[in-house]
Amino acid sequence: MTPPLMSDEKIRKARTHVNQNEALIFERSMPGKRGVALPQCDVPEVPPESVFDQKALRAAIDDFPEVSEVDVVRHFTRLSTWNYAIDLGMYPLGSCTMKYNPKINEVVARYEGFAQSHPYLPEVLCQGNLKIQHMLGECLKEITGMDALSLQPAAGAQGELTGILIIRAYLQSRGNPRKKILIPDSAHGTNPSSAAIAGYQVENIKSGEQGCVDVSALRDAVTEDVAALMLTNPNTLGVYERDLLAIVDILHSKGGLVYMDGANMNALLGVARPGDNGVDVMHLNLHKTFSTPHGGGGPGAGPVAVKSHLEPFLPHPTVEMDASGTYSYNFKRPLSVGRVRSFYGNFGMLVRALAYILTNGPGGLKQTSEDAVLNANYIRSQLKGIYDLPFDQPSLHEVVFSDHLQNKYGVTTMEIAKRLMDYGFHPPTVYFPLIVHGALMIEPTESESLEELDLFVEAMKAIAEESATNPDLVKKAPHNTRVHKLDEVAAARNPVLRWKPKKT
Ligand SMILES: *Cc1c(COP(=O)(O)O)cnc(C)c1O
Repeated sequence: MTPPLMSDEKIRKARTHVNQNEALIFERSMPGKRGVALPQCDVPEVPPESVFDQKALRAAIDDFPEVSEVDVVRHFTRLSTWNYAIDLGMYPLGSCTMKYNPKINEVVARYEGFAQSHPYLPEVLCQGNLKIQHMLGECLKEITGMDALSLQPAAGAQGELTGILIIRAYLQSRGNPRKKILIPDSAHGTNPSSAAIAGYQVENIKSGEQGCVDVSALRDAVTEDVAALMLTNPNTLGVYERDLLAIVDILHSKGGLVYMDGANMNALLGVARPGDNGVDVMHLNLHKTFSTPHGGGGPGAGPVAVKSHLEPFLPHPTVEMDASGTYSYNFKRPLSVGRVRSFYGNFGMLVRALAYILTNGPGGLKQTSEDAVLNANYIRSQLKGIYDLPFDQPSLHEVVFSDHLQNKYGVTTMEIAKRLMDYGFHPPTVYFPLIVHGALMIEPTESESLEELDLFVEAMKAIAEESATNPDLVKKAPHNTRVHKLDEVAAARNPVLRWKPKKT
């Protein structure tokens, strides 16, 4: 028998670079390697003094990595295989609504006229781009029941801040901006931040038994000092605020406004319109409900929509269409809170969101919401009793469990989340909302098939079983990922965000 030329171990290392020293993985540079061949220089190599201050010239670039094209492509392709992605499997991050990003969106967003047009183009040369913004605005108004909107904010949180600034400007125009914003204790952390940045004091409203706003506590808290209530609906427990109409009345009767955090409209498309229920201002996350990509620092889009009494305060410019069908930007908005972002928002994301809306159409959008709700309820019913359900109610787009039943074996939410990675799933959102101790917040979205949901349920059941019979296995997870338990505090405090050459 001929001996193998190379040991299995060596082949595995060469192919996957598993178990190699971190530094070796990132250090691919070798003196003299080149990825490009530049044409011969046909201008003076050193520009004359009149063109360039000679002191600004560098003789050489220190520490520039020298790599071939193959090295670069393989390096990044290899890194991508060590990561998790929505294109690999379910990504059940509750509240983050990680739905599939349809490839048709990417095709359309890459059309030259959209991707290459300069934001300083005169309006007459970019009517198509203005039409996209106008059409998306009209669709979002129809979906939300609101009267007017701005597509400028580049994130949900920025939409919130814009919305609260609009509330402040409106109340100010009536003589008194007021002092406080009320926020339920189940809210996303961006809500109190946005209110505080806009200059308001934040007052917490406790949730009732069912996880919804406690209406009598709210009634006691609403005074003439309250500018608005910021309400997430469905709330972060995935439960619809059934008392919405009463809540709106309480605020309005004291001259306050209702802000709705509509980051997760994923349960409501084509089913309920906040504008019909008295909401004064809200934001949407196109990078959640409307399938544009997010995470990894990618651009977001958080349009803010208002009822007509708040319209004069929207950021400028707004996109308008005249009687002849010509589109223009309107900068003449004297009461506007001003511009909140350069140019017109993340235009490429607006194109993608409109592609998603038009691909689905009204009936299709309604079905996405119905499927999202069905999927969340399926997971709730399959895992009920195996994981603790602190608020056992029909789910909308997401369902929140806790680690209560696993705690008696010493297993916690963090460990369950890490163990899920061994089973090939991205973990759910953990330890949020804060009102649930050890929360595991699962949002499957409509993207997932019954087969994928069943795999996820099986993995969660297996982890519950392991927690009881072999808790150490769960506590030491993940076992199958390239890196194991990270020092998350150090990663947050001293992040390594770019390659730096090793000092020789
Ligand atoms: C995601 C989210 C936000 C914030 O959106 P960003 O785009 O991350 O700023 C606000 N509220 C809720 C309920 C969310 O889920």
